[in-house]
Amino acid sequence: MTVLQLALPTPLRRLFDYLPPADISGAQLQQLQPGQRLRVPFGRRELVGVLLAVRDGSALPESQLKPATALLDDNPVLAGDILQLCNWAADYYQHPAGEVFTAALPRQLRLGKPRETGSTKAWRLSRRGMGLPEGALPRSPKQAQALAALQATAAVSAEEFKQAGISSAVLRALEEKGLAERCRIAPPLREARTNPGLALNDDQQAALDSIASSAGRFGCHLLEGVTGSGKTEVYLQLIAGCLQRGQQALVLVPEIGLGPQTLARFQARFDADIVVLHSGLAEGARYRDWEAAAAGRAHIVIGTRSAIFAPLANPGLIVVDEEHDASYKQQDGFRYSARDLAVKRAQLADCPVVLGSATPSLESLHNALDGRYQHHHLPRRAGSAQLPTLQALDVRHLPLQASLSEPLTQRIEATLKQGQQTLLFLNRRGFAPSLQCHDCGWVADCNACDARLTVHLRQRRLRCHHCEASRPLPPTCPECHSRQLLTSGVGTEQAEAYLRERFAHWPVYRVDSDSMRGRDAMQALSDEVNRGQPCILLGTQMLTKGHHFPGVTLVAVLDADGLLFSADFRGEERMAQLLTQVAGRAGRADQPGTVILQTHHPDHPALQSLLQLSYAEQARQLLQQRRELGLPPCGQMLMLRTDATDAEAGEHFLAALRRAFEQAPQAQCQLIGPLPSPMPRRQGRYRSQLLVLARSRPAARAAAAQLVALAEGLPRSGGLNWSIDVDPSET
Ligand code: ADP
Ligand code: ZN
Ligand code: ZN
Repeated sequence: MTVLQLALPTPLRRLFDYLPPADISGAQLQQLQPGQRLRVPFGRRELVGVLLAVRDGSALPESQLKPATALLDDNPVLAGDILQLCNWAADYYQHPAGEVFTAALPRQLRLGKPRETGSTKAWRLSRRGMGLPEGALPRSPKQAQALAALQATAAVSAEEFKQAGISSAVLRALEEKGLAERCRIAPPLREARTNPGLALNDDQQAALDSIASSAGRFGCHLLEGVTGSGKTEVYLQLIAGCLQRGQQALVLVPEIGLGPQTLARFQARFDADIVVLHSGLAEGARYRDWEAAAAGRAHIVIGTRSAIFAPLANPGLIVVDEEHDASYKQQDGFRYSARDLAVKRAQLADCPVVLGSATPSLESLHNALDGRYQHHHLPRRAGSAQLPTLQALDVRHLPLQASLSEPLTQRIEATLKQGQQTLLFLNRRGFAPSLQCHDCGWVADCNACDARLTVHLRQRRLRCHHCEASRPLPPTCPECHSRQLLTSGVGTEQAEAYLRERFAHWPVYRVDSDSMRGRDAMQALSDEVNRGQPCILLGTQMLTKGHHFPGVTLVAVLDADGLLFSADFRGEERMAQLLTQVAGRAGRADQPGTVILQTHHPDHPALQSLLQLSYAEQARQLLQQRRELGLPPCGQMLMLRTDATDAEAGEHFLAALRRAFEQAPQAQCQLIGPLPSPMPRRQGRYRSQLLVLARSRPAARAAAAQLVALAEGLPRSGGLNWSIDVDPSET
């Protein structure tokens, strides 16, 4: 009995056995391969699954197995390294295989629609046909003519036969004799060309030579280079080599780093087919690009997180730019790290992977220091630009206007008067982060979350930044009807209003997710600013990614304290990365930049290290702390999370899980919790968590598998959902 083992898009963590479809031919059955899609009955529905294995039997009796409804593909839709990557990821992240495979397929294929590979119908000789001598079938001249055409080449398109006056009936006759078979011819591949690159400096050349020498085999390279040191130039020249060998390159970029600027640079360098995969694309276009990548027609594939699952016929190089960026981690559903999967994929595809950053993650640095990754340094800016200097500005006792102190305001004014630009960083959007009644103390809270509502004055609304909730700004206090409603704290909208008033002669550009809607808004702004007129840029995290502002000579962080105090164990790492990245936007050859950090805690040790140490030195210090505490990357972490409508259900569930885990013989682990999540209630659901620390990767993997198996067997109440997060990026 032949049994097909399928991954189906269900939340169940198992594979499903089916019998082959009734109408499948013996030859098709012989040729079944993992990665082909099948349509199958599932309860009262039909699902599209991916074949993972063909077996000789099943644990279930034949009477309980249903036949699949239809085989949907002649060839696998997922093959080679991608198929292996999905299998590996399902196991490593303990996520249902069906959902992993689904995540890797374009919607069109998930829905079971036929592939549109851009190929044309054609015919070729069957194995038996190949055994015939020349001049066979003399009694049937048309068939003989067709056979001769097939013998002359690998495949002949249906169109060519038609033009030669050979009807499809003739070809069907050959097919019935078992001499010819149908196939498809892919569109021709185009050769890529590369325009000359820049002459590299010594550091760039050393990195390029070393990485290029590992072409054709797996190797992981950390390219640590300060902002503007020419990492992208190194990627471009590596890609040139990859294309020259006839291989494809995959380039991952952070979510908001994917500007047309980046694309324009690639397009200027290469006369090649470059496809860009990101969530903003229309389904149809996205699918066409996916097929172009799968067929090997696309030479370069650039994309955000999910592009790590883009199929490549001939992978030769993977680049992860800004590898420390948080957007590489998927935070819900199938929680994977595209950066980590990039390393795994390179291993499976046997090609080099380059992780580039000015501020490498501690994970990558740890691997580099331990010799698992090769470490390449670009310590200087390309050209002659200098790095900016950092200064703390103690704002204790100073009057603040929309969170700007007078000394800072004066520096801004002086900068503008010298014809230069200023960048102000404030990681809080809206007008103010909270609204309170001065008479009775009422505070505007979200009904669904443990969070304050943010005042958006221009829209005259209160908005929750954690769920979709929003309501009109009340004219009076809902409790005591007082008119004394006061805002506290400052967001970008308020700082913008103040700056516009104070610096009426200069443009003020606000950059946050409220003001920058649409993909091209950020690019338009960057073009405007880079014309070089003096101006003020004010914005959130959005300002720190991907865009260069060479005319900026003064950078200020309005609320450095907001970054200093974080409950998360990655807080300091994130702060150091963020500030180094903000600082990296400033200064050029003739005008080195200055970065000012406004703070109430000038002596805070984290701030001191920031001022005194380079990012590389800080990172090594943080790594030492992590080692002492057994925290990632020096130990492994798992997080079990629950959310439920009932306030107690999560903690009960996790407590039961913990007991069960501790009773079973298990991997050596330290468990912390159950505890309420940092925001215990969100979107009306109560959330709790159980943290697991393991010494080694094998111990963590064993614990993850065991915890998932135990959790699946536990009773659930209160509408409870649970999930596991392997290598969580937040605690
Ligand atoms: P990064 O990716 O490290 O931020 P880029 O590759 O974008 O750096 O380079 C920053 C700037 O320096 C760009 O304008 C780039 O054209 C220029 N640049 C890079 N390498 C060189 C080089 N070898 N010689 C001259 N200019 C260079
Ligand atoms: Zn009141
Ligand atoms: Zn809310």
